[in-house]
Amino acid sequence: MTDPRDVVARKRDGDTLTEDELRTVVLGYARGDVSDELAAAFLMASFIRGLDRDETVALTRSMVESGRTLSLDGVSRPTVDKHSTGGVADGVTLVFAPLAASLGLAVAKLSGRGLGHTGGTLDKLESIPGFRTDLDPETFRQQVDQVGCAIAAQTEDLVPADGALYALRDATATVPSVPLIAASVMSKKLAVETDLILLDVKAGSGAFMKTPEDAAALAQACVDLAAGWGRRCRAAVTDMSQPLGEAVGNSLDIVEAVEVLRGDRGGRMTDLAVEFAAAAQAALLDVPEDEGRRRAREALSSGRAAEVFRDTVQAQGGDPRVVDEPGEILPGAPVIAPLPAERSGFLRTVDAEAIGRAAVALGAGRMRKGEPIDPAVGIVFRPKVGDRVEAEEPIGEVHARSEKLAAAVVRAVNDAMDMSDRPVDPPPLVHATRDTGDG
Ligand code: URA
Repeated sequence: MTDPRDVVARKRDGDTLTEDELRTVVLGYARGDVSDELAAAFLMASFIRGLDRDETVALTRSMVESGRTLSLDGVSRPTVDKHSTGGVADGVTLVFAPLAASLGLAVAKLSGRGLGHTGGTLDKLESIPGFRTDLDPETFRQQVDQVGCAIAAQTEDLVPADGALYALRDATATVPSVPLIAASVMSKKLAVETDLILLDVKAGSGAFMKTPEDAAALAQACVDLAAGWGRRCRAAVTDMSQPLGEAVGNSLDIVEAVEVLRGDRGGRMTDLAVEFAAAAQAALLDVPEDEGRRRAREALSSGRAAEVFRDTVQAQGGDPRVVDEPGEILPGAPVIAPLPAERSGFLRTVDAEAIGRAAVALGAGRMRKGEPIDPAVGIVFRPKVGDRVEAEEPIGEVHARSEKLAAAVVRAVNDAMDMSDRPVDPPPLVHATRDTGDG
């Protein structure tokens, strides 16, 4: 029998691991036979030494094999899954899932929790009173069929190895690695057999991949994994050089997503959700992309997408009134402090990771594995790169447990902004795309 310590030692020394060796560590950790300490050492060794293409495939396969897979045979509509590699004020999944369902698709989505400075769809949804993300595979499948949209956590049945390793990576500074992210994301996507996988691979200061080039490498690694499994996948490398939407928190993100779903809010988050909805309709329904965009915008403005969100919330035990009066239903913070700009100018760059970390410091994310999060707190940050900002004018709000914490976050957010005296061009929303048809 392989001793997992020898496997870790081989990776530490820069050797290439075999599929059996990777399986020993990954399945051993998922079963509880490999300790947190040894698994953390494995992650750090893999982070520093890297994993080649075969190792990444083997790691992904072991993670998928740690649980069962979920067939969606029998679901009447074409099925799609969408995943973001993680960003700040990134509520696209919350919008995309009901939106795509309102357009004739069925969305089956296994989501993650907040990781590092980035928010997590599950944490956001759980800020809705009663909302459950621990659906068993059969309930999940039925909801996909009946409601057209289900968003759940990986469970003890589905990719348990990712559940365990994901939390450990968050706690051990081993997140931003192309093979580790690719295996984590794709193990969840490969375990659920949808017709299409859409990936939003974020690039920029608020992403794990800081440049579009590194993000493109991650997109390619994910698409290659999908191709190896014979699955159809399209990845877009998108801008995360600034918070995508305005809300950085959990309740606050739900409020923003509801406003987008009701057609009450435009902007970059809406535009990106519409792009993904158009890509899904083109791939699965043969709808030309321009027509797909038009249909998506119509589903938002008519309220149809919001109605699917209501049904999804209700089906998962949450309070459906969140669609009508989110501010009343969701937990709120005791302190809501204005966020004034300290300097005038055109916003040149934003350190979106610093804003994400400021939100974590308020309690919106985790410092340690398994910690609870505070759904009520967070930051609303309104300006976008290129916008003109005037000193002393409000550019958002801080929702906090105390005045002291709020004041610290007002300073941190201002420190994260770099101003220019000259006009600045906004960055593109989509840098590049990759898909399994690219060859
Ligand atoms: N999302 C995931 O599911 N896993 C990662 O490692 C990063 C983002």
